[in-house]
Amino acid sequence: MKGYGRRDREPFPVDRLNRVERPTTVVHDDQVKPVSELDAGFMKARRGIYGEALRGEVLRFVNKHPMSGAERWIMNRMREFVDGMTAGHHAPLPDDPALLARHIKDAAYFLRADLVGICALPPYAVYTESFDWKGSSEEGIPVSLPHRNAIAILIDQDWPTAEAFTGSDWISNAMSMLAYSTSGFIAMVLAEYIRRLGYPARAHFAVNYQVVLPPILLWAGLGEMSRIGDCVINPFLGPRFKAAVVTTDLPLAPDKPIDFGLQDFCSKCMKCARECPSGALSEGGKVMHNGYEKWPTNVEACTKMRVGNPKGSGCGTCVKVCPWNKPYTPLHRAIGWAMRKSSLARSVAIKGDDLFGYGKPNHAKKWWFDLEDVHGDGILTVPAEKARKK
Ligand code: SF4
Repeated sequence: MKGYGRRDREPFPVDRLNRVERPTTVVHDDQVKPVSELDAGFMKARRGIYGEALRGEVLRFVNKHPMSGAERWIMNRMREFVDGMTAGHHAPLPDDPALLARHIKDAAYFLRADLVGICALPPYAVYTESFDWKGSSEEGIPVSLPHRNAIAILIDQDWPTAEAFTGSDWISNAMSMLAYSTSGFIAMVLAEYIRRLGYPARAHFAVNYQVVLPPILLWAGLGEMSRIGDCVINPFLGPRFKAAVVTTDLPLAPDKPIDFGLQDFCSKCMKCARECPSGALSEGGKVMHNGYEKWPTNVEACTKMRVGNPKGSGCGTCVKVCPWNKPYTPLHRAIGWAMRKSSLARSVAIKGDDLFGYGKPNHAKKWWFDLEDVHGDGILTVPAEKARKK
């Protein structure tokens, strides 16, 4: 097997990141209680906990734009393919978890992942119950997931679109669904590949999770906790990504968490909290919640904005304005390198971000049409026209 799994296909220089033994925010492993997917914001909206109007809107808010609706239509059909039969025999693979981890990452990059990280699956990252997409909104499906390892796959939501959009206009949900569906596709192929190698594996993506993502992303060295509530930020993509996960028993060497100065950056920056249209993000300090240190978020206000946004489909204003949301150009690579290394550079970057007008929409780059399916009957209208007729 000499030579296999030794190619370096990584699009970003992850080997140059500062690796640490534990995540940069406190995680009391023995105190974190596993949670139910039914308690996530979107699920509460589906269950009517945020009111009847939002319960109706949550079934429509992705489909109301034809691009996000198209992506979601495919995603719903992909939901069935997260698991399958495991081959009866182990393939003749190298007996080296580090080499296998390298190979699995290369396979994920071959499938067009933007970033990949591996960790031991924390038991508290497994949901107690998952949402029953086919049944009642009130009763979850109990989860039993005995796998040892997690492979996390990140997909960029697309910089040119992120540069052009306002943060809460008609393309916002389409950016999310693009990265959800693409990361989900890669996770499903990778899980099936691992099963064909003779090891159990299951894919987890936006419409069929059995795991909660932030602790996996932290332990897999893909980011740090940010001021955007439960959102992990990556040093190369910022918050402009979505993730899918494969859990498996394939022996894999884990990555280590990373420290790129985000705790210092977020404590000084606060741009997402300042610009959030729903006021859901805090300008205050971190709190302890269920064994995690994090910045608090008003999940209800955030969900109401994203689901009920009357002037767009979804909302990603925090993604739009975050100074880490930048293209991977030589200039921004150099600035990003300095931001990772120096507190002074971070302070200058925070001021410079506003000074140079970052976070504002570049209308010249807009490529999509603003369209809305108002009644769910497939008839598209121009939202501005609809507003004028009212
Ligand atoms: Fe942190 Fe600033 Fe990004 Fe908010 S906008 S997540 S405070 S870096």
